[in-house]
Amino acid sequence: MRPKAAILTIGTELLLGKVIDTNGAYLGEVLSSAGFDVNISVSVGDHLREISKWVRILFKEVDLIVTTGGLGPTKDDLTRQGVANALNLPLIFHEELMKGIEAIFSSRGFRMTENNRRQAYLPEGTSPILNPMGTAPGFSYKTDDGKIIVCLPGVPKELRFLVEGSVVPYLRKVFDLGHRTKRTRVLKVCGLGESSVDQKIGDLMKTEGNPFVGVLASPEMIRILITAEGNSEADVGRMIGEVETEIRRRLGPRIFGADEETIEGVVLGRLKERVKFLMVEDEATGGELVRHLLKGFEGAYHSMSCLRISPDLPMSLCQEEAPETVLLRVQLLSKEEGGLKDFKISFFGSGEVKEFNVRLGGPKEDVERRLAVLAMDQLRKWLI
Ligand code: ATP
Repeated sequence: MRPKAAILTIGTELLLGKVIDTNGAYLGEVLSSAGFDVNISVSVGDHLREISKWVRILFKEVDLIVTTGGLGPTKDDLTRQGVANALNLPLIFHEELMKGIEAIFSSRGFRMTENNRRQAYLPEGTSPILNPMGTAPGFSYKTDDGKIIVCLPGVPKELRFLVEGSVVPYLRKVFDLGHRTKRTRVLKVCGLGESSVDQKIGDLMKTEGNPFVGVLASPEMIRILITAEGNSEADVGRMIGEVETEIRRRLGPRIFGADEETIEGVVLGRLKERVKFLMVEDEATGGELVRHLLKGFEGAYHSMSCLRISPDLPMSLCQEEAPETVLLRVQLLSKEEGGLKDFKISFFGSGEVKEFNVRLGGPKEDVERRLAVLAMDQLRKWLI
């Protein structure tokens, strides 16, 4: 069984929305890749009682707590005292740590102030984690029943340095995790709602188990996440591969890409194989379609609504009737009716014409974004 872990991020600025909790996201990813079941993440303000209370609560639930923040020299840096209170330990002064902190100050040409002495006090029995990138040392403590708390600085650069350099190797050893590997593959689907995806692959979706399959929905696309854990990259790749093959069998070309691929990048790849210019006539997406396409067309040139796919060709060749040109047109067909509008997406190229009608509703910006993505997706399917 995977050991359970909790993340406790400390800092009032996190609760006030002044700082986004990127440390929590980072730790979630690193700890679960290392083999932990990260099942709780909590943010608390700089309040002694809250810190102690949450350390106690979390230790009832998990085998490992990792905290970030609150290790600085100021009065509101309360992690050391909060953890000491939760574990009924006194704070002990570490002469060696003090010397290390003094050395960091003098190497940077700063004079150390008295309050920095606070940073050399740690709960009794804890092991210091030296922090060569900053002055705030972290620490770790193992309880009598084998649970561990690791307290790390809040500054993201310092946190990452310590986590990757010493904390993860230490935790792998203590929890005997060997070299378990975990990976998530993302498949991206356009033009299907969440419930239709659920109908097609719902039986494969599990929130637990190995591998497990989940779905993330946004107005313009659905992401299907396949996560697997194993003893090697090859193991994980095989487990993900089996599920991916089944999902692709059921959803076919509705899956437009995977992982970091974007719809505009995929469309550009297909266009490059087939045509030289893409003309866009867009009277319905408020410019969203061209904005999107230009992201995929990095390095391609554009003039008005004509996108040049082969940079070596003169723009004068970009003409509606030219064989190297595809015209993509997006039109509004009807006024709003019952909250819905009808649109037509058409393509003209190589003597072919193809048309699709779609009916969309909702806030204007959402409709424009969805329509732009749908138009690109239809173009992608047409180009296959
Ligand atoms: P310091 O010695 O710099 O005081 P510290 O461990 O006390 O380190 P904090 O003072 O709590 O850390 O935070 C320092 C800075 O790190 C914050 O101003 C903020 O920019 C960033 N930070 C803190 N917590 C987080 C977090 N959870 N996610 C992202 N950034 C954070």
